[in-house]
Parts: sequence; C-alpha cells; structure tokens
Amino acid sequence: HAKTEGRGIVSVFDASMSEAFEARRQIEAELQVALADEQFELHYQTLVDTRAGHVAGVEALVRWRHPERGLIPPLSFIPIMEETGLIVPLGRWVLERACRDALAWPDHVVVAVNVSSIQLRQRGFGADMLAVLAQTGLAASRLEIEITETSLLEESEVTQENLAVIHRAGIRIALDDFGTGYSSLSYLRRFPIDKIKIDRSFMSEAETSADARAIIRAVAGLGVSLGITTVVEGIETAQQLALARAEGVVQVQGYLLSRPQPNTSLPEFDTSKQI
Ligand code: C2E
Ligand code: MG
Ligand code: MG
Ligand code: MG
Repeated sequence: HAKTEGRGIVSVFDASMSEAFEARRQIEAELQVALADEQFELHYQTLVDTRAGHVAGVEALVRWRHPERGLIPPLSFIPIMEETGLIVPLGRWVLERACRDALAWPDHVVVAVNVSSIQLRQRGFGADMLAVLAQTGLAASRLEIEITETSLLEESEVTQENLAVIHRAGIRIALDDFGTGYSSLSYLRRFPIDKIKIDRSFMSEAETSADARAIIRAVAGLGVSLGITTVVEGIETAQQLALARAEGVVQVQGYLLSRPQPNTSLPEFDTSKQI
C-alpha cells in the first residue's frame, strides 16, 4: 500500500534504506577482512595500586588500524561485531595477544581483557580461555576478565557456568563500569566477582557532587567487607587521585596515570614509583 502514497516518497525511502543497508554490509565485509589480515591492535592502560604506588596491572583496549581511515576506537566497531557474532573470533584474538604480551612483563602485572556478553554466552568459552592459557604459558593468576552488569542481567545458565570455570581456574573477574547499568548488589553474591571498577562518571562528578563521592566511599567500604578489590576509572587530575585515595579505593586508572598506549611504548613497570 506504500505505492499509493506517491512515487517520490517511496523511492526516497527505498534509497535511504538500501544505502544504510549497503554501508552496513560494507563495514561487515571490511571487519571480516580486518580479522583475516589482523588489522587490530591492543593498547594498554595501567592500573596503579593506591597504597604501594606500583603498577598492579594493565587493561587491554582494542583498536582497529584501518588501512585508509587510520586508528578506529572500539566503540565504533565493537557493537557491529557483537551484532554479527564477529566479536567471538575478535575476542579470541584479543585474549591470545594479551596473554602473549603479558609474558614479557613482570610477574606481578596482571593483564585485564574486556569480554563481551556474547562471548560469555558461548558454550565452552571458559574452557577456551583455559586453552589459551595452556597454549601461551601465562599463569591464570595473571589474567583478569572485565564484564559488565548487563552480561549478568539475562541470567544465562551458560554465562554462570563459564564464570564458574574461569573463577575456579584462578582467573579474576572484574565488574566493569559499575554503577551505570542495572547494578544489583545480589550480583556480588551470585557471581564470583573479584573486582569492582567504579565507572568514571562517578569520578568526574565526585568533586562537585557529595552524592557521587559518597557512592565511591560506600563501594570502597563494600569492597573491604566483601574482600573485593575496588578500582576507580577516569582519574584525570591530581585532586581526583587524592580523593580516590582518601576514600580507600585500592586501584586507580586514568589519563593522569597513563593513556592507553601500544605495547612497544609501555614504560618499564616501575615497582618503586610513588603516585
Ligand atoms: P572500558 O572497558 O570501560 O575501558 C575504559 C575506557 O575509558 C577506554 O576507552 C579508555 O581509553 C577510557 N579512559 C581511560 N582513562 C580515561 C580517563 O581518564 N578519561 C576518559 N575520558 N577516558 C578514559 P576505549 O579504549 O575507547 O574503550 C571503550 C570501550 O570499548 C571499553 O570501555 C570497552 O567496553 C570496549 N572495549 C575495548 N576493548 C575491548 C575488547 O577487546 N573487547 C570488548 N568486548 N570490548 C572492548
Ligand atoms: Mg574495561
Ligand atoms: Mg571500564
Ligand atoms: Mg567505562
């Protein structure tokens, strides 16, 4: 019946639909090639212990080195990879690359890898992780995965099982962007969570909002009581660092301490460095 509304409208509608579809199809094809050609690279950002002052770990953050368009940030392609399922082979590549890179670093430096809910819902994902450890020779205690609250929301049995396998092996599990999703304290009881990463939106408001600051303080206290390591993301100023410390947060991450950088330009992990 659309045809009765006039040819002009119908054809404009058709054209924009097929253009969007075409653009989307092209990105998908490009991402397939990118995987085959290994156009992805990992940059690493340090997590610093607020008490000892040393680098406790690094987070692996993927980038796409596009042959024409240069370096593309993850939020521009991860969602498409999640929708198409390409996140599964990409996630596998990220895991392997991160484990291999970590072998060259001091033993106390843990490598954290972001894991999508799509990966967590794959049967056998936990076993695959253990296989990568066996293959690369990295100790389980040096690996951490970062998952989001949204991954836990759907109550998938497979997710539960994967997390149990991962945790039993000694790989740590961090809850990323804490406080932005459907935060439920029951997750901390139902799932084997070792670390909470308080979302950077809390830190960016902490200096002006007593509430944001109170939430950081409360989560830090919760961490102490439950034996869960707490991290604040997005530390950009010395004042924010001082605030995180004063509230008892265990680790800090942010541009003030380091930007994500390629493995080749990582500074020596100075264990004596005081922040
Ligand atoms: P995330 O896991 O929460 O990672 C932290 C993001 O905050 C990174 O953005 C990092 O560069 C940025 N950041 C760190 N410190 C600061 C700061 O002081 N100020 C500000 N404004 N930002 C800061 P990036 O690298 O663009 O990554 C964005 C998101 O993409 C990540 O958020 C993560 O959810 C996702 N991602 C990255 N790598 C992977 C991956 O290998 N697999 C999956 N599934 N997702 C990934
Ligand atoms: Mg993360
Ligand atoms: Mg995060
Ligand atoms: Mg975040």
